[in-house]
Amino acid sequence: MYQYDLTEEQLAIRQIVRRIAREKVAPRAAEIDETGEYPWDILEVFRKNDLMGIGIPEEYGGAGLGMLTLCIVIEEIAKVCATSSLIVAAQELGLMPILLAGSEEQKQRFLPKAATGEHITAFALTEPGAGSDAGAVKTRAVRDGDDYVLDGQKCFITNGGVADLYTVFATTDPEAGIKGLSAFVVPKDAPGFTIGKKEDKMGIRGSQTTELIFDKCRIPAENLLGEEGQGFKIAMMTLDRTRPGIAAQAVGIAQGALDYAVNYAQERKQFGRSIAAFQGIQFMLADMAAKVEAARQLVYKAAATIDKVDEGGEEFAALSALSAMSKLFASDVAMEVTTDAVQVLGGYGYMRDYPLERMMRDAKITQIYEGTNQIQKIVIARDLLK
Ligand SMILES: Cc1cc2nc3c(=O)[nH]c(=O)nc-3n(C[C@H](O)[C@H](O)[C@H](O)COP(=O)(O)OP(=O)(O)OC[C@H]3O[C@@H](n4cnc5c(N)ncnc54)[C@H](O)[C@@H]3O)c2cc1C
Repeated sequence: MYQYDLTEEQLAIRQIVRRIAREKVAPRAAEIDETGEYPWDILEVFRKNDLMGIGIPEEYGGAGLGMLTLCIVIEEIAKVCATSSLIVAAQELGLMPILLAGSEEQKQRFLPKAATGEHITAFALTEPGAGSDAGAVKTRAVRDGDDYVLDGQKCFITNGGVADLYTVFATTDPEAGIKGLSAFVVPKDAPGFTIGKKEDKMGIRGSQTTELIFDKCRIPAENLLGEEGQGFKIAMMTLDRTRPGIAAQAVGIAQGALDYAVNYAQERKQFGRSIAAFQGIQFMLADMAAKVEAARQLVYKAAATIDKVDEGGEEFAALSALSAMSKLFASDVAMEVTTDAVQVLGGYGYMRDYPLERMMRDAKITQIYEGTNQIQKIVIARDLLK
């Protein structure tokens, strides 16, 4: 395997996570998909192995290892179970607004428990009428003395009902459009906060995706992140940093499918020889491998760029575009490669006894969440044409 520019430490972490994924996660993957239940046992494995706070700086109890290392971790887990990889990726998404916009006091209050995985986080932007058009958020937050009162509804929220802390985007000034959005941390036990419908999904079935309902939900004013009106900017800065994590998930799913297809092709015999002896199969596998490696390099490049910027390196104007490219490219590769991997297995690829149809279903979500691929293209084109 090509090493990119990984440090000794990153290579060592990759080996450790690869072993955890093989021994603890892989044996559970089919069952998690079948039952659609949140894998609390896998969360416990990640907690014990300090995988929940990889990107959180050490001063807040995390490992302080940055985005590239986090992407490597997500990729290794996604090779065997996309749902389980989302446990780590969604944690980063939920806590990133606190990391980027929280005051020192808020970081000290919220991040240490997120770093150990004692607290699970969620990111709540999407609403029934505000998907790609995230600025159309209608959930209202009104200041009332020392509190804010939230009213509205979110949908499709990963970790709904599982999370302890929800970063919620609501409008404090409906007249001001995207400039009226603000970001809040809502604890799971806030009065007036309940979980609505739980979705029954095509893939990542063990991840819980739910509605959130705010009915005169009262939270302390000290849970506002940054200032009123900064919510949209905080959400976009967050997604710029977390999209490579989803891209890494896509690379992992694709690599897992490719590995399975390569092994299968060598074992399956037709016309008196292994199907791997047929050039038609070899060329398919070669195309798949080239795409996965290209996607991986782009994801690592985006992640390494984020690490440089966040460590005080030079501000990189095209960070949003690079991050969007990584998710666009890697998720399309994941969809193509998993579809081709099913083809390599023929009829067996279509059967639930084999993991490839699950990988194909799981791959699809990477083209949709954290901004659809059409939205990624808008971000990239905006940078090109500015
Ligand atoms: C399993 C799952 C988990 C999720 N987790 C979270 C979460 O944790 N937090 C959260 O806030 N959200 C989450 N989401 C929401 C997700 O980010 C949105 O579903 C996504 O951004 C698309 O919004 P939408 O579903 O409303 O689709 P729409 O915005 O209605 O889009 C429908 C179609 O129109 C296209 N489209 C829209 N606008 C344009 C345009 N300007 N140009 C071209 N094409 C366009 C889209 O690409 C898409 O193909 C999750 C979604 C799913 C399915």
